[in-house]
Amino acid sequence: MTRPEDPGFENATDSTDATDVAKERDFIRQIVADDVAAGRNGGRVHTRFPPEPNGYLHIGHAKSIHLNYGIAQEFGGKFNLRFDDTNPETEETEYVESIMRDVRWLGANWEDRLFYASDYFDTLYAWAVHLIEHGKAYVCSLSEDEVRAYRGTVTEPGRPSPDRDRPIAESLAMFARMRAGEFPDGKYTLRAKIDMAHPNMKMRDPLLYRIKHASHHRTGDKWCIYPFYDFTHGQSDAIEGITHSICTLEFEVNRPLYDWFIQNLPVPHEPHQYEFARLNLSYTIMSKRKLLQLVRDGHVSGWDDPRLPTICGLRRRGYTPEAIREFNQRIGVAKADSTVDYSLLEWAIRDHLNRVAPRVMAVLRPLKVVLTNYPQGQVEQLTCVNNPEDPAAGTRQVPFARELWIEQDDFREDAPAKFFRLRPGGEVRLKHAYLIRCEEVVKNERGEIVELRCTYDPATRSGEAQDGRKVKGTLHWVSCAHAVEAEVRLYDHLFNRPLPEEGDGFIANLNPASLEALRGCKLEPSLAAARPGDRVQFLRNGYFCADSEDCRPGKLVFNRTATLKDTWAKIAALSG
Ligand code: ATP
Ligand code: MG
Repeated sequence: MTRPEDPGFENATDSTDATDVAKERDFIRQIVADDVAAGRNGGRVHTRFPPEPNGYLHIGHAKSIHLNYGIAQEFGGKFNLRFDDTNPETEETEYVESIMRDVRWLGANWEDRLFYASDYFDTLYAWAVHLIEHGKAYVCSLSEDEVRAYRGTVTEPGRPSPDRDRPIAESLAMFARMRAGEFPDGKYTLRAKIDMAHPNMKMRDPLLYRIKHASHHRTGDKWCIYPFYDFTHGQSDAIEGITHSICTLEFEVNRPLYDWFIQNLPVPHEPHQYEFARLNLSYTIMSKRKLLQLVRDGHVSGWDDPRLPTICGLRRRGYTPEAIREFNQRIGVAKADSTVDYSLLEWAIRDHLNRVAPRVMAVLRPLKVVLTNYPQGQVEQLTCVNNPEDPAAGTRQVPFARELWIEQDDFREDAPAKFFRLRPGGEVRLKHAYLIRCEEVVKNERGEIVELRCTYDPATRSGEAQDGRKVKGTLHWVSCAHAVEAEVRLYDHLFNRPLPEEGDGFIANLNPASLEALRGCKLEPSLAAARPGDRVQFLRNGYFCADSEDCRPGKLVFNRTATLKDTWAKIAALSG
């Protein structure tokens, strides 16, 4: 990880690379505004966030949550949280609970409108029967592989299933027997009868129901047949009165099928689907299947590993909901896929923490300084401003004494001309305190520097020399006798490449240096009382957050949320 070169304290408020994207109306908000103006849906606006509870939420889901919830708020509408839980095998209550926690944390409020697609299983079953009765669905005996083979290709039409013209009464009876549990898994399916030559493959007699003798996290063993996602999603929106069914671009091809269901079923309401480009972020992956693989195979410590783009990972890393919302506003909503640079997310968290995080001093790689002319046993309590950006944050006392810790990096024996930190015979300012001069370098028998012997100038309490001599460098420090120890975890990108799927795939592109845990870091004593989740700026070292899992009284652990500046530099052109 590169370290910022002499970030002066004045520069600690970060510059931004982010372009000032106007917060104008995106195309989806424009559609909603037009619908409201035209009085469509009786002027109602109703959106939802429909996760499948088969993993933890990530920053991409946050985009969808902020879009759906934001629209409901802006147009005086309603917002539902609905779990699309049609697959009994991959879904778990653990995921349901984490998703609710994350949606709430992100600031979206579904009030009393928490729903589950599984609550609609009876209705969906009745609607499947309705299609059979109208000659629009049939029980099919083809295996999964055969169904695929019969479907044809984009250039060739499909072939009809031998069961396509099964008499209605027979399909009805067989569907009832499927439900009654008379057949093993995979023996039969229920399929819609649409068009085996349709140019859109989704319309070639899609599967509606499968036999699966599996317990469901909510319906238990009530069902042994389960509707497919495609036969559930749009109808669930119809049942809930969703006016604008907002989803990501890959569902564009499903829209004709969803519309077909709506047109052919006795639904109480007709939702309309609109697609937007999903969020892709450089140096990270978002597929739940791949995130699960990283967790299961131990490449990360869990779903909340601070290197992951999961909401719980970002929270543990120290991200705030405000920063994530600001990030989402910046990137906007588009109709074409692109990859957003990770540095934009970092810009958002720096921008927020710069305003709210108190500044404190912490030495990550300590080197001892002894002030030979400072009275033995004397301690001065220095009054330090907590946050120059926020006068209401007040001040605190920081002890200063004869023996101090500074960063190893802040001293160089053979320093180049432009090195403004400490060098033999050189002078620097200690933040909030005095000017000091390095008089002697103490080494051990291996030639390693173990201590600096310095003098301080008692007349420089203001931080400036009385005689007008200029001192450029300002260092942070911690009094040895008063320091509290901590483990500090520094993070780099989880992947080596901006597009982790490139080359030999995302596992091969894992960055072996993505976590560096520093033990024996020295923190100013005010941090002894840090509580899990507390966010601070360690002067010159970045923004940090007390770890929510491992930090406790007597064992402090901090995660670096972000460096003070964009050390990964340029915004690469990744769109495509
Ligand atoms: P995966 O494909 O990895 O399983 P998913 O998109 O299927 O993820 P869902 O639980 O179905 O996960 O997603 C819930 C909602 O979040 C959907 O409406 C989906 O469109 C949206 N969403 C998922 N990923 C993103 C993303 N990267 N950007 C924007 N919206 C997303
Ligand atoms: Mg999905």
